Amino acid sequence: MERDLWKYAAIVGGAALIGYSIDYALLTAFLAAVTLVVWQLHRINLIQKWLDDPKAHQLPEMGGLFYLLHKKLTKRNAQYAKRKRQLSSYLSQFRKAVSAMPDAIVLIDNNGKIEWANSNASSLLGIRWPEDGAVRFGDLIRYQEVAAMLADSKRKKETLEINSIAHNGRSINFKSIPYSNTTRMVIARDVSQLIKVNQMHSDFVANVSHELKTPLTVLKGYVEILQGASDLPSKFVKPLEQMNVQSTRMQFIVSDLLYLARLEDKDNVAPHQMVQVTHLVNTIIEAVQPLLEDKRHKIQLDIDHDLCLVGAETELHSAFSNLVTNAINYTEPHGEIGILWKADEDGAIFRVKDNGLGIPAHHLSRLTQRFYRVDTDRSREGGGTGLGLAIVKHVLQRHAGELLISSTEGVGSTFTCHFPNEQISRSAQKKIS
Ligand code: ADP
Repeated sequence: MERDLWKYAAIVGGAALIGYSIDYALLTAFLAAVTLVVWQLHRINLIQKWLDDPKAHQLPEMGGLFYLLHKKLTKRNAQYAKRKRQLSSYLSQFRKAVSAMPDAIVLIDNNGKIEWANSNASSLLGIRWPEDGAVRFGDLIRYQEVAAMLADSKRKKETLEINSIAHNGRSINFKSIPYSNTTRMVIARDVSQLIKVNQMHSDFVANVSHELKTPLTVLKGYVEILQGASDLPSKFVKPLEQMNVQSTRMQFIVSDLLYLARLEDKDNVAPHQMVQVTHLVNTIIEAVQPLLEDKRHKIQLDIDHDLCLVGAETELHSAFSNLVTNAINYTEPHGEIGILWKADEDGAIFRVKDNGLGIPAHHLSRLTQRFYRVDTDRSREGGGTGLGLAIVKHVLQRHAGELLISSTEGVGSTFTCHFPNEQISRSAQKKIS
């Protein structure tokens, strides 16, 4: 840089000296300076053209400051080109990997337009890339509920999941994941086989439970007859008592399993009854009164008396009663149990809160699995079958509801059932189909 300045100063000085000899020192110096500026502007222009399109413009050899600039820019350009090659190689590898996945993957923008799709999107959803680029995803797929789910602007930032039955009987699981601020990734997977296996598993459990019902009734009947016999030897009293307790427990398990099977049965559609939740809560409290008195719990009610649920009364009774019974069973005597039923901004909530034993965080996600218990002995002592929360989950699913569980060990638990607006009504006159 310094050398360049000296060089330019020498040129202007030399021009001034030449000019001096003919009495035009200032003019020649000025002309030399202007020529230098024009020349530099020309070089800058050449560099700019080369930067805009390095392939179309050749940069001439330059000296001094421009030589250094040229060298650095050439080096940086080469680095950019290398990085670009690397990135496009990563991108093509990523696309190859995504295309090899058995799932259909479609990227859509905020307006629902298709930005990219892998090859399986064609076989599973009929979406072809690049032919269907910029077409709206919702216009191409025949799954109305999926299109509605993606169009719901309020839920755009959430990961959404839905199972849909295709017209050919296949079951497709759709998952929509926010991918960036402007893009969502929709993953569609054929889960027909999985659903078939689950159905076989459910049928098996239901059949076994059904087969066990009659032998159990007979067994329990005979045990009771024997217990009532006047000449029963005393050594049989205790074993028979145990047999009675255990067969009753088995009957409860069988009956809960059969109930779950009925809830899972897709042909068994939940009736649309107008359910007075106030009445439901009253009958539940009446039924658990002996338990409440036994444990001396305080119960607090916060109920919106006008608010009704639309659904199957017996199912909702069984779900809510499971939650209340659990709160009583898993709270030490003299505890406090709160039951709340009220509207919220997007529906209504039924909440049961206790200040009982609480549940360690790592158990929470598994509580609604069949037979999952935090403390098996305690559950059995309270007459639990380990199926209560599984029943709650299924009943809520049949009422478009959702179960949220929060708990702190040693502090207490809160079980919240959330129902959407479509499942609630304020008017007893609401038309029920
Ligand atoms: P169970 O018949 O054993 O009560 P559930 O399915 O109703 O079966 O509950 C599963 C497990 O969740 C219970 O065994 C218990 O460990 C835990 N649980 C349920 N409700 C509560 C609660 N209110 N407080 C603490 N633990 C609870």
